[in-house]
Amino acid sequence: MSRDDRHAIVIGAGIAGLLTARVLAEFCTRVTILERDTADAGTVRRGVGQGRHLHGLLDRGRAVLEDLYPGCTAELVAAGAHTAEVLVGTRWYIGGLRVMPTATGLTSVIATRPLLESVLRRRTVALSNVELREGITVRGLTGNGERITGVRVASDGGPRPDGVPAMAGADLGGEATDEAATSAGGRECCAGAETAAVPEDPVLHADLVVDASGRGSRICEWLRACGAPVPGEERLAVDLGYVSRYYRHREGLLDGQRSAIVSTGADGRGGGAVHVEGDRWLVTLAGMAGDHPPADAASFGAYAATLSAPDIHDIVSATVPLGDPVPFRFRSSVRRRFDRLPAVPAALIVLGDAQCAFNPLYAQGMTVAALQAAVLRECLRLDLSLDELPARFYATADAPTTTAWQLAASSDLRHPAVTGRRGLRTRLANAYVAQAQRAAHRDPLVARTFMRVAHLVEPPAALLQPALAARILLRGNGAASVEPVDR
Ligand SMILES: Cc1cc2nc3c(=O)[nH]c(=O)nc-3n(C[C@H](O)[C@H](O)[C@H](O)COP(=O)(O)OP(=O)(O)OC[C@H]3O[C@@H](n4cnc5c(N)ncnc54)[C@H](O)[C@@H]3O)c2cc1C
Repeated sequence: MSRDDRHAIVIGAGIAGLLTARVLAEFCTRVTILERDTADAGTVRRGVGQGRHLHGLLDRGRAVLEDLYPGCTAELVAAGAHTAEVLVGTRWYIGGLRVMPTATGLTSVIATRPLLESVLRRRTVALSNVELREGITVRGLTGNGERITGVRVASDGGPRPDGVPAMAGADLGGEATDEAATSAGGRECCAGAETAAVPEDPVLHADLVVDASGRGSRICEWLRACGAPVPGEERLAVDLGYVSRYYRHREGLLDGQRSAIVSTGADGRGGGAVHVEGDRWLVTLAGMAGDHPPADAASFGAYAATLSAPDIHDIVSATVPLGDPVPFRFRSSVRRRFDRLPAVPAALIVLGDAQCAFNPLYAQGMTVAALQAAVLRECLRLDLSLDELPARFYATADAPTTTAWQLAASSDLRHPAVTGRRGLRTRLANAYVAQAQRAAHRDPLVARTFMRVAHLVEPPAALLQPALAARILLRGNGAASVEPVDR
């Protein structure tokens, strides 16, 4: 795509939308982000309910952010975030034992999701050719199965797709009004859709449309309404419950370390406590397969006491809560297989959670969104036409997306209540990973490599290198005794 007079529309100003707008700003004359929420920087927006819960940024994602926004880690720290060596500044527990504290070369950014988003948003909207329009809900696409030509937006900003009452006062600006007139003669899209746009919906035309509207994206309905091919979906039902609560930070807990993560064990329970900006602990408890943490204040601590390591309960018991616990239910991981469609419409890209929404336990979503944005940049650098761009994008984004999906899915399938096919490969891989986890309690090289794979910095095959495999088999043997390291 040449820079000459190209207008791109990005639907959604979440992490994926912001990163994509940042990338497109290099290749388009104008980038317009349409976001149905309005928000003050640093607050949790209604469209991003997950923003109240622990958001870990994997080091691979942090590296992409640094590439797109040089200095952003320092900017986050200046705004109150903390950074730490992953296994040194954080106590990682698997199976009730701490993973050996050792240098991994990985950096954790410890911050709330609203802080992270606010820094990315500030940097993105500071770009001279990026415009963020808030309070605008996209309700469909224009175009057909061959090519997408723009979006239909709600003239009053709502009603929102999730049924939340309409937002008044959306400013569509002159362009939308003009284009609404243009659109009257060209309604090739959206007739008969469940979310059918009413004829009055204004239309915004674009040379390229990116759907980054998150897990609740209606892209399949929108495509169907256009007569465009609709991707198949893969789903893995995990019925995960999160409950999060803030506590006032107090020195002396965790021996000054910034966070404790208790990985979900065989019972599917886990959690994390992280020292975030504003001198608070953000504590998130999680339970899989319907065994959700309670959202009432009285029982929150009792659930924390059932985790396989005591640190989170210690924090909850010794500090003052700030506000009530907040629940979130995540039923299924969903992947829309655009990469498998024989033909995709030109000028439309779907990425972030709208393409693949991961089980949040593995903290992969923001990083995969960042990797997809990086792939889009690579593809745009090839100067492809907008007809060629989507297919090339999906084919190239398949590798990082599949790696993350398989890591998460095979781990989910270790839980007996999660329904899914456990082929020989999955069973062997899980038995080996269990051994690697045991070895990671006592072997620094295994601990380091294990975390580097989990952070998507090294491929899973790194755990199979002969020298490492020997250590895993020797030290991760179920019969070998494992001495707990000092907490
Ligand atoms: C409970 C929970 C915890 C998580 N924890 C982590 C973690 O630890 N680490 C991690 O990396 N990831 C985590 N994730 C995933 C992470 O939040 C997402 O993967 C990441 O933010 C990328 O999302 P996105 O930008 O695609 O979508 P979102 O962040 O959901 O943003 C979509 C945006 O689109 C807007 N929008 C939606 N529909 C429309 C419309 N029709 N018109 C206009 N605007 C619209 C929404 O208002 C929203 O702003 C977690 C997710 C959940 C649910």
